[in-house]
Amino acid sequence: MSKKSKVITGIIIAVLALLFAGGYLYYTGALKKFFPKKAFALEEYQTGEMTEIEPEEYVPDLILVNKEYTIDAKYDSGIVFYRNTDVLMNSRIVDAYGEMSDYVNENLEDKLYVSSTYRSYEDQGRVLEEEGEEVAALPGQSEHQTGLAVDVYVMYHAGMAFIQSPVGKYLNEHCQDFGFIVRYPEGHKDVTGFDYEPWHLRYVGHPHAEIIMDNDITLEEYLGSMTPGKWYSYGDYVIGLCSEDDIMIPSELADKDLLYSRDNRGNVVVWGKII
Ligand SMILES: [Zn+2]
Repeated sequence: MSKKSKVITGIIIAVLALLFAGGYLYYTGALKKFFPKKAFALEEYQTGEMTEIEPEEYVPDLILVNKEYTIDAKYDSGIVFYRNTDVLMNSRIVDAYGEMSDYVNENLEDKLYVSSTYRSYEDQGRVLEEEGEEVAALPGQSEHQTGLAVDVYVMYHAGMAFIQSPVGKYLNEHCQDFGFIVRYPEGHKDVTGFDYEPWHLRYVGHPHAEIIMDNDITLEEYLGSMTPGKWYSYGDYVIGLCSEDDIMIPSELADKDLLYSRDNRGNVVVWGKII
């Protein structure tokens, strides 16, 4: 081989090796940290005249509970028994959880079990004593106290093994269809404070669950992406963030069915379908 063709062969091999290595890194997701994704932002909704509102009732859907935003022992979680079981959950999620569980029965031919839903402030203290601070939240820092979170499993696949099961895989991709999110997704410990928990599903309702899951963000990032006083649109929905003591909604939405949820950061999220 001439010197020139040796050089050309060398270059071709180097380029192929780079493409192969790049492809492998891309496939494994290792390149992600070198190309940080753009900060998540909802499309803004232009507001005109505003009307002050005093909501008659609140839903709990978007309450943020973590190490920074805590709830006290008196937090009222509206706990009921799920169907004819002794499983306690927030009355708000009974239908949504039921739909998810029925879906698993009918389409994935498996049975979804709950290992933990509601835990009182006192229960959380006991869990902490048993499991230690590495894995268990401090009382007041666990969203299990809201009754909006469920730890689920299927037979032979509990805990981390849940994600190895067809049901675990399905729900980690599609739980938003039922209004739930994977609350502690893989690779977001810096934001949530928790390692990946494929079994811990948290109800946030529609369209928030779709927004969070489809954009691979956390509840913290979702709420953090909104500014008090600003309004946003997503599909058929309009979503606004208001300061708790100044709830002003666009006047054209005054006759729509709107939902109101406190976010535990001093704000209220307001949303509804406008189309
Ligand atoms: Zn949990």
